[in-house]
Amino acid sequence: MPQDPTATTDVAVIGGGIIGLAIAWRAAQRGLTVCVLERGEQPGTGASRVAAGMLAPVTEADAGELALLELGLRSARAWPAFAHELEQASGADPGLRRSGALVVARDRDEAEALERELGLRIELGLEVQRLLPSAARRLEPALAPTVRLALDVPGDHCADPRAVVHALAQAARRAGVTLRTGATVERVEQDAGRVTGVALAGGDVVRARRVVAAAGAWSGAIAGLPRIPLRPVKGQILRLRDPDHGPGRGLLERIVRFEGGYLVPRGDGRYVLGATMEERGFDTTVSAGGLYELLRDAGELVPGVHELVIEEMSAGLRPATPDNAPLLGPAAELEGLHWATGHHRNGILLAPVSADIVVDGLTGGGEGVGSAFAAARFSGVHA
Ligand SMILES: Cc1cc2nc3c(=O)[nH]c(=O)nc-3n(C[C@H](O)[C@H](O)[C@H](O)COP(=O)(O)OP(=O)(O)OC[C@H]3O[C@@H](n4cnc5c(N)ncnc54)[C@H](O)[C@@H]3O)c2cc1C
Repeated sequence: MPQDPTATTDVAVIGGGIIGLAIAWRAAQRGLTVCVLERGEQPGTGASRVAAGMLAPVTEADAGELALLELGLRSARAWPAFAHELEQASGADPGLRRSGALVVARDRDEAEALERELGLRIELGLEVQRLLPSAARRLEPALAPTVRLALDVPGDHCADPRAVVHALAQAARRAGVTLRTGATVERVEQDAGRVTGVALAGGDVVRARRVVAAAGAWSGAIAGLPRIPLRPVKGQILRLRDPDHGPGRGLLERIVRFEGGYLVPRGDGRYVLGATMEERGFDTTVSAGGLYELLRDAGELVPGVHELVIEEMSAGLRPATPDNAPLLGPAAELEGLHWATGHHRNGILLAPVSADIVVDGLTGGGEGVGSAFAAARFSGVHA
């Protein structure tokens, strides 16, 4: 809906992916007027459309990223209530499945790596259990007999990102958010060191007291924004379907992760097989080699994958920072600008907690530019 050109909104959000929409919804709930500008013909045309939807702080844990692990655990704990509230507010099911996950090793090297991962997770106090192959196959009979070792991670779950985006757009609209699609932000406008709004391709200007940069991997490329070290990391992914799916258990119940990929069951005969990690700039082509590797590796562990029907092949761009953690909250250089990007591999997991942190900043509370996720940690570092 076009805005009154003379009106000033409290918040203009650049980008209608999962992060921008979650922020818009939460900000409107706190009484702010919000306008989301999304350049696609519908919301969620970026990474959020491609993502598998794992809510997996434990299996994603890395010894060098403790602040990120804590943020992920906090967001994972928030997800059930977030999903429930979202469903109530939107009337749409965001597809949360409390599936748990298995991490499996194919050979001795991978088994040794899993033992090290187990040690790290136990040290960190995370919920995880070592399983012999026989026990893993009792839980997931579709696993190949050649599996060497598995870890059971009962607390890592998943949601359906497309369903989440749909529900968020509904909830945001119902909360009064103006959601403009086909609206490309070309420039963030400012006056005397303070944002005044955003200029769109075609000449429209949306006046705003605060601007949230939530344009995913493209957040660094908008004129008028301070430079941030953000790069796209390409991920290719397959959407598969079991043509014989009926009542009862499907091929897999749990998420199965392995060196280089994962299989995520949606619970209705659909599966997501992902994902490559490639540094190729803003390239979203799908390559035969990328998909071959995913199918080959998954098929070694779950041979039944080869019986599934391919529904979709796609590639998306993860917005990545040098330390893999997001940029959240007010920018030091430009008053009224708030960052909400850099979610890399975990934007679906981190959506609830990111929205809370950014909206706290918008309403004058929160940790400000001193927080562990503030852009200030990269001052002097450029992409
Ligand atoms: C293959 C793959 C698998 C993944 N799997 C998982 C997973 O299992 N779990 C998990 O937590 N995360 C996963 N991720 C990561 C997750 O998808 C991202 O971290 C998350 O989607 C980022 O959300 P976003 O809203 O910041 O960005 P996006 O979803 O990319 O949204 C940004 C939006 O901004 C819009 N935009 C860009 N520029 C402009 C402009 N100038 N004007 C207006 N609009 C603009 C775009 O059109 C887009 O809709 C995966 C990513 C990929 C690629």
